[in-house]
Formats: sequence, structure tokens, C-alpha cells
Amino acid sequence: MSCCWGYAAHNGPDKWAESYPVANGRRQSPIDIVPSDASYDSGLKPLSLRYDPSTCLDILNNGHSFQVTFVDDTDSSTLRDGPVSGIYRLKQFHFHWGSTDKTGSEHTVDGTSYPAELHLVHWNTKYGSFAEAADKPDGLAVVGVFLTIGADNASLQKLTDSFGAIKTKGKQTSFANFDPATLLPDCLKYWTYDGSLTTPPLLESVTWIVCKEPISVSSAQMAKFRALLFSAEGEAERCMVDNYRPPQPLKGRRVRASFQ
Ligand SMILES: [Zn+2]
Repeated sequence: MSCCWGYAAHNGPDKWAESYPVANGRRQSPIDIVPSDASYDSGLKPLSLRYDPSTCLDILNNGHSFQVTFVDDTDSSTLRDGPVSGIYRLKQFHFHWGSTDKTGSEHTVDGTSYPAELHLVHWNTKYGSFAEAADKPDGLAVVGVFLTIGADNASLQKLTDSFGAIKTKGKQTSFANFDPATLLPDCLKYWTYDGSLTTPPLLESVTWIVCKEPISVSSAQMAKFRALLFSAEGEAERCMVDNYRPPQPLKGRRVRASFQ
């Protein structure tokens, strides 16, 4: 693999194992979720997501996706219950998407892709910091939300309105008072399983919580995602598209459902 990982043929998901052997590990993500193989677990609690818009800090093009970052020095924006115990703090959220409306999500359901997937990344406060938590088996909890083509999403528009300032890799701008709860579906029924980060270093530290119900995005909004660039200012322009890892082997893992 050349210098840096990415999503092109020479440095994409098929090449990541050369530098990150855990890519072939026992609990890699994403996966194809087969609802008929998921077992309903009556012991799974409803997900409790409490977000404080004042903890929203900035929006960044990191060359792989765009990411909204949160202040995480207090328990202001947290995930509790669901499949986890203890308190997990929101660190950032970001998206994965395709070059067309046909593909783009990382998780699939019965083999079907959505055009995009939102990841809300939280870390277990028993470890003191995101960096400490990131490689622990119960260190992270990521909520995945599928996007499906439909009406314009007013909450997503707040994000796309800032894209002019973060078109190229490394650009960052302030992004205050955004409530990530506005990106959640009405219904928080979920599937859960033990997995990993879906980007290098692919650490096997994530309790995945994938919402069954998608949120809407319009085709015009998806086109705005695709106008962001992987490339830095002054480099040959490469559109930020197909920044998703395909499903990985389940290797005997059980997927549980919070619903029947
Ligand atoms: Zn992600």
C-alpha cells in the first residue's frame, strides 16, 4: 500500500490488511445484517441519547469524510443504556457515502445498501479519554443511521451549508450549536453486535448500534456530499465518493435485535 490509506484501488479496503493486519481479525466491521438471523434480546434496554448542542465545536474535511467534532470534557452529550453499561461521551460524527444513490452505506441489510450512513462515535468514560478508550474491547459505542432517498432533510442542510468552507482535505471551520439528535430517526429500534472501526487502524473496540429506521436525504443533498474533495487545495481534484468499507465476515458473531 502506498503511503496513506484511502478508498482508491491502490490504497483502498482490499489493501488495508498490508499495514493493518487486524483487518482480517475476528470482529471487523461493517457487516451485512440479516434480520432473520438476528436474535431478539428482551434484555436490551432502549437507547438513551442526550445531546447538548452547546458541545458542538467544528466541522472538518479529514480527507476521508467530513466530521463534526464535540467538546467531550464533561458528560454533556452522552449515550447510555441500549446494549452498553456506563456512560459514553459523544466525540464526533461523520458519514460514508457512494458515487451514486445505489451504494454508500457500510452496513447493509439483507445485502441491500443505502446511499449513505451516519456514524455517531462515543467513548466509554471509564477510560478517561477517547485515545485511551479507542483500543479497548468495550471502549467505543457507535450509533449507525442509514440515509434513504426522500425529502430534503433540514438538519442535513445545516451541514451542507458549511461545505463551501471545507471543500478540500484539512479544511476546518467552526460549527456551533448543532443538535445531533436532529439527525436521529423517530424510532430508535436497533441491531447490535461487537465490531471494529471501519477505517484504519480498524481497532476492535466498537459496540455497534445500528438503527433499523433510516433518515431521509434528497438526491440533491447527496450530490452536495459528492462535491466535497478527498484532495487538498492545489492537488488534482478527486471527488469524495465511495468512502465506505464493504461488509466483513461475521466469523460466528451474534447480531441481537432490540425489537421483535
Ligand atoms: Zn464511520
